[in-house]
Amino acid sequence: MNTFYVTTPIYYANSLPHLGHLYTMIVADTIARAKRQRGIETYFLTGTDEHGINIERAAEKAGRTPKEQADYVVSYYKKMTSEFGLDTAHGGYDIFMRTTERFHYQGVSELWRRLARARTPRGNDAIYKGHYEGWFCAACAEYKTEDEYQKPKNEGDPPTCLIHDTPLDRVSEESYFFRLSDYDEALLSVYESRPDFVRPESRRNEVMSFVRSGLQDLSVSRLTTSVSWGVPVPDDPAHTMYVWFDALTNYITAIGFGNEEREQKVGFEKFWPALHLVGKDILRFHAVYWPAFLLAADVELPRAVVAHGMWLDPNGRKMSKTLGNTIELDVLQKHFSIDAIRYFVLREMVFGQDGRFGYEGLIDRANSDLASGLGNLSSRTLTMIGKYCGAKIPSGVIPEDKLLLAKRTGVDTDETTVAGFIETARDQYLLHFENLAFSRALETAWSIVSRADKMISDAKPWDLAKDENQKQTLGAVLYRAAETLRWLSVLLHPIMPGASQALWSQLGLEGSSAQINPSELKWGELKEGTAIGDVQAIFPRIDKAKTMEEINADQKPSGAHATEADAVTGGAPATKPEPPMKHATEADAVGVTSFIEIDDFAKVDLRVGQVLSAERIPKADKLLLMKVDVGEEQPRQILAGIAQYYEPEKLVGRKVVIVANLKSRKLRGYESQGMVVAASYGEEGRPVIATFTEDVPNGARLK
Ligand SMILES: [Zn+2]
Repeated sequence: MNTFYVTTPIYYANSLPHLGHLYTMIVADTIARAKRQRGIETYFLTGTDEHGINIERAAEKAGRTPKEQADYVVSYYKKMTSEFGLDTAHGGYDIFMRTTERFHYQGVSELWRRLARARTPRGNDAIYKGHYEGWFCAACAEYKTEDEYQKPKNEGDPPTCLIHDTPLDRVSEESYFFRLSDYDEALLSVYESRPDFVRPESRRNEVMSFVRSGLQDLSVSRLTTSVSWGVPVPDDPAHTMYVWFDALTNYITAIGFGNEEREQKVGFEKFWPALHLVGKDILRFHAVYWPAFLLAADVELPRAVVAHGMWLDPNGRKMSKTLGNTIELDVLQKHFSIDAIRYFVLREMVFGQDGRFGYEGLIDRANSDLASGLGNLSSRTLTMIGKYCGAKIPSGVIPEDKLLLAKRTGVDTDETTVAGFIETARDQYLLHFENLAFSRALETAWSIVSRADKMISDAKPWDLAKDENQKQTLGAVLYRAAETLRWLSVLLHPIMPGASQALWSQLGLEGSSAQINPSELKWGELKEGTAIGDVQAIFPRIDKAKTMEEINADQKPSGAHATEADAVTGGAPATKPEPPMKHATEADAVGVTSFIEIDDFAKVDLRVGQVLSAERIPKADKLLLMKVDVGEEQPRQILAGIAQYYEPEKLVGRKVVIVANLKSRKLRGYESQGMVVAASYGEEGRPVIATFTEDVPNGARLK
């Protein structure tokens, strides 16, 4: 049976959907549509992970039950997927999976039981009972992993909570463990024998070096008295499964693992294994823990785990509410077509790397590639067919006796030139697509657009139209352009389903480009005499200035505007701004020696300061002497090499960032008690002082 199964992660139901979620869904949706277009029976899963302490607490704050809390967040996801054409009604996902489903409880219990019976490759019990010991924040009511606490200054002292700044308690609790440490060799042999199992290769290397560095057993349960909102451990109600164990298992329970009814309805046997799409921040869970669970349970491993990069702002910074550089989904949806958004994200993010997203960039791409590119090719071709050929697809043949005249006026009379180019491009396009290199695939598709544009401008149909003897030549040129558009409509269906179908209909074709297998396209199948449809702009040009003005007006000033977390907790202050799957950021550091640990960063004491005075120093043309209030009893005296670029008086009153624990040093006889942080660019290293756009008290620490 020719089937395919693709998944996005299921998203933790304690924050509302954002660009990252939308992106993974668009990628999965694109893959699913491409498979379906080739006649492959496809199942596409997305959904939400709804258990755990964070949801329990958010619910409590908002005065809801945990299930009501999850329902509330899910309603936002459903709205989002509908608005962006990603739900079942729009031909998108097949299931919006929720871990609160009864069948999921059954399936995950079945997996647990299998693990509880299993022996590791080294002959030990795969699951055993032990004690989980960790640093616990009472205020957070949560264990803290290494990247979630601040290491103590003095050895022997407890670390402190990054949120509460209070010392953590060493707490030990009974827990079930999964003997991950026995699976290193088995996992390594999977990565080695299946080089495509973790993609791209850079991520595979990270994962392998993480596994080689030695695996720790995983705590896979919590006492029900600590965390009750979760799946009970079979035969031991005193324990609740660890939320990640429960969440990962959704990929198999959704299609029928451990539940006969689901198996009948969808089919684990039929669809497994899946292609998992994940953000690189949760790679370790999917590429190490999940395959280890499956190995232990003797369940076939996924087809592959593919990690994509993150979206940064146009300047390459992380998006955050505080910086005010996030892309709001409602703003996006209001001002741009779904097809333009899909095209942009797939074109802009090079496979495996981080991408940059800004509204202006989106408008520029939509105008250049879509409105002026494909859109213009389509509208001018169809308009000319309307004008010169009675709105019917002309014949593609130039009669023998007209060939010489056609050649003389610059027409390439050999149809196979353009047909051959397009066939080759199609093959390349499909190859890139198969490798999930959407950006390169689209580059290739646009080489077809350029080729057709060139053919038209070489042949100059508007001149041919003036000569009755060139009527058939004119028809042949327009036929080739129209046939090119038909191919593009089929190729681009998975990327831009709406625009692709509009193009198809405007060509006068019946049915849908979604039903044509692109690898079976044959040049010349567009039928002569086909009456074209109503010609309309597929991609209207976006007025950049006007749209940017509207977008800026839509973006509420930061501070006044409800954060995601606020919305989730019903307005209560968020104790935790980070997404819950944050543990996985550890994966970022795997094998990348240039990264530092959080406590390396914590060594640098960055503080907000305010410039009280600034003056030039005699005979030192680069240095400014400043007094900076860092919230201490006395202002600090700091020297900075910025005199060539900043007028001293203009700095007074300005908020700056100070390295407060830099050893004081003497410059030109003056003591400097710290350092002002500035960017440096250009060959001269021009300094630009870091500052804040929002009000912040002097002495506040940056972390
Ligand atoms: Zn805390």
